[in-house]
Amino acid sequence: EHLRKDFPLRTVRLFGPPRAVHAVEDASLALYPGRATAVVGESGSGKTTVARMLARLYDPTSGVIRFHGQPVDLKARGQALRTYRRHVQLIFQDPFASLNPIHSVRYHLSRPLRVHGHAHNRQEETEQILALLRRVSLTPAEQFIEKYPYQLSGGQRQRIAIARALAVRPEVLLADEPVSMLDVSIRLDILNLLLRLKDEEQLALLYITHDIASARYFAEETLVMYAGQMVEGGPSEEVTQRPKHPYTQLLLSAAPDPDRMMAGQKLQLPARGEIPSLINPPSGCRFHPRCPHAMEVCRQRFPRRTQLGNGHWAHCFLYGDGDGEPVVSARLKT
Ligand code: SF4
Repeated sequence: EHLRKDFPLRTVRLFGPPRAVHAVEDASLALYPGRATAVVGESGSGKTTVARMLARLYDPTSGVIRFHGQPVDLKARGQALRTYRRHVQLIFQDPFASLNPIHSVRYHLSRPLRVHGHAHNRQEETEQILALLRRVSLTPAEQFIEKYPYQLSGGQRQRIAIARALAVRPEVLLADEPVSMLDVSIRLDILNLLLRLKDEEQLALLYITHDIASARYFAEETLVMYAGQMVEGGPSEEVTQRPKHPYTQLLLSAAPDPDRMMAGQKLQLPARGEIPSLINPPSGCRFHPRCPHAMEVCRQRFPRRTQLGNGHWAHCFLYGDGDGEPVVSARLKT
């Protein structure tokens, strides 16, 4: 709730206050068992930082993380942090970097089993590793257990990374762009695997991606981030089929959807420019330098959340300032 993350810059300044990268501002989201939530945005939107705060790899600058409704102690270290991480696991983007090349599959999967006390002897450990390999569809499992990362394809490595996360029986799985570094031909297989595991294990799944088209397929809820701010969210069908925020429309224009094209729906695009510097982000709505609908008020402050019906919401003055009434004002850009 209301997570904020600033990364202080180490450069020494003679004048003015210390500078920081304002990576995430006021981000809130909820995850539920058996449901997937997608966080979508370009590089630099803050989506990975949100996942890393939830995984407790980064300490939030401010905000609250709750687990089963109870506030998590953000100062906790040692055993308390390990216990939290047993429940909340993160899968990284790069399967080539997330496995140690000098260790076998057995080693990678036995460590979490041992650390969290799920295996008490080697035979038990072997049985559990084989079961994990089967759960991620690496079969026959006996052929994979003694292999090394260099003997595996990118997709197989990502399956090992998923198996390693499952080894500690987590309740929450945070998948940070889990397929973006994989061959296009196997991306769907990995996404389908995550979907199956989510259903079978009733995992609460956070899916971080820059691909809004896959969010619709993969997640029940989609949240869109731009330059550290959450700008639109709701049921994935609503957000991807009836996007309201101009930035969501921009993202969708970069990911053509066959259904949308069949329906003949047009989007008002493209917007100019790139994601702004987060050291000195634009005032108000951070999208205003790129937005074809920007108004004077957009420069002055960030709009409150407007509910658009069916659980769909947006932070945009085109839909009012929390009240659903469009803000009429002189436009800066057309
Ligand atoms: Fe564009 Fe203003 Fe809406 Fe931001 S608040 S997206 S600048 S219209």
